[in-house]
Amino acid sequence: MTVETKAAVLFDLNKPLKIINLDLPYPKKGEVLVKIFYSGICHTQLLEISGKNAAGSFIPNLLGHEASGEVIKIGTGVTKIKKGDRVVLSWIKGKGLNVIPKPINYKNIKINRGSVTTFSNYTVVSENRVFKISKKLPAHIASLLGCAVPTGMGMIINNAKLKKNSSITIIGCGGIGINAIHASKILGAKKIVGIDLNKNKKKLIKSFGATHFINYKTKNIKEKIDKILGTEGSDYVVDTVGRKETMELAYNLANNNRGHVILCGVPNPLDLKISINPFPLYYGKKLVGTGGGETIPDKDLKKYASMYLNNQINLKKMITKIYSLKEINKAIQFLKKGNCVRVLINMNE
Ligand SMILES: [Zn+2]
Repeated sequence: MTVETKAAVLFDLNKPLKIINLDLPYPKKGEVLVKIFYSGICHTQLLEISGKNAAGSFIPNLLGHEASGEVIKIGTGVTKIKKGDRVVLSWIKGKGLNVIPKPINYKNIKINRGSVTTFSNYTVVSENRVFKISKKLPAHIASLLGCAVPTGMGMIINNAKLKKNSSITIIGCGGIGINAIHASKILGAKKIVGIDLNKNKKKLIKSFGATHFINYKTKNIKEKIDKILGTEGSDYVVDTVGRKETMELAYNLANNNRGHVILCGVPNPLDLKISINPFPLYYGKKLVGTGGGETIPDKDLKKYASMYLNNQINLKKMITKIYSLKEINKAIQFLKKGNCVRVLINMNE
């Protein structure tokens, strides 16, 4: 048995995605069939499309790793959720069976897919990437809980455990950076510096709680930070970009005795080496990496949902633009320009 779905598929690196009709097989053991409402496009997919991460070796393949939807059918062995549940799909692993669904046949070609993919009307995903969420949460807001919110906020709440009245600098203010800024503000950081390439984002970045903005293109970023925070440097620094220069900058902007540096941008595997002076690490400076902000999705996504419903976090403002599935390549181009927080795809338009 199959269900027909439209899907945006990566057939060739650096080429637009092709929208095709696929016969999606019903869920097998540990799998869940979900009708998708909204999917976010994350910077990770830009890397996949340009072949700058491992996914390049899987083409043709399905993409996407954050979405909201409704459970249509569950496979054998699935106990965590049931038909009719409103859910968030996330790449971050939670409880339940871990399955990689088999490739789908399409005109004698095999279309590969991972444990979670979301650029389609319907998808089949692994039980441990599906999370039940309150029906009160609007579907477009819920899709943000799949990646940007848990990663960005989790980094600050779970990893940094940011202290009140501290200072923090965030390099790269896209979906994840904005969430890190927002969480820092909620936890009571005194000074929050956002650094971004796009000077037009200054107002937006400040509206989420940044007290200062620095254009990444300016020379002497260190001097500017010194003026804002004093020469001791920042208590916390987050790099969401994952480039050699930004990772090294993050390390250098942090306080040498207690600075806590968090790297969360996905680095290009071909450009993995960074150069730092390790000496301060012996005296209390910390350098860590985080994938999903140490999120425990079965617990944390419910927490973020209720924070939104209680007006403690403003997620609505994080959605810059919503496109339809047939406009997905336009949406990808828009995201590439970088003048946005989150771009969503409405799968039912
Ligand atoms: Zn993501």
